[in-house]
Amino acid sequence: MFTSLAFAFVILLLVAVYYGYGIVIRKPPSAEELNTETCSLCSRRVEKRLMLERQVGDSRLFYFCPECIRDLYSELQQSAMTSS
Ligand SMILES: [Zn+2]
Repeated sequence: MFTSLAFAFVILLLVAVYYGYGIVIRKPPSAEELNTETCSLCSRRVEKRLMLERQVGDSRLFYFCPECIRDLYSELQQSAMTSS
């Protein structure tokens, strides 16, 4: 009984240490990560200056890469053509 409790405690301790270690070694974002953003549609990482940024509500930010904007635009043109 005692050994299993001690064993569980050691496991818990190891998990806590591992978790704490993960927080400590989490490195600050690199320059590449700071200058790029993940596209909200295709999840590709693209340079921020090439992207469109739209805020929805108070906190939600959406980024759209040039390819997705192009796709959306051509889709819009196609639906405009078929509806008229
Ligand atoms: Zn995209």
